[in-house]
Amino acid sequence: MGKCPYAKPSFLGVRCEVISNVVNPAKHNCLNDKYVECEIFKKRDEFLGERQGKGTRGGKPDCRRCLFYSELTGRCVKLGVKVEDPTKPPCKGKEFKEATQ
Ligand code: SF4
Ligand code: SF4
Repeated sequence: MGKCPYAKPSFLGVRCEVISNVVNPAKHNCLNDKYVECEIFKKRDEFLGERQGKGTRGGKPDCRRCLFYSELTGRCVKLGVKVEDPTKPPCKGKEFKEATQ
């Protein structure tokens, strides 16, 4: 059984990295395969796209423009690591995915 890649364990339940907020996992199906039906998940590009314009546009990979970056926590959701310097992605750009499409 899968779970949403944006669901992070939180003291109050699940923290959604898309909206940077605590959500009810039972309502959004964060912890099972049905997360693909979650409205927030479906609109993740829209939510995460608000970061457009930050970082170096069209240049080298920058975590601030990446779909997997959580600005609030300063962490990479994909690798599960703290990003010390967003201009130097820990993945070295290999996992970089433009947040706006
Ligand atoms: S609210 Fe939706 S997008 Fe956020 S973690 Fe849960 S399933 Fe994923
Ligand atoms: S480390 Fe790579 S995958 Fe993670 S947020 Fe930065 S660019 Fe994206």
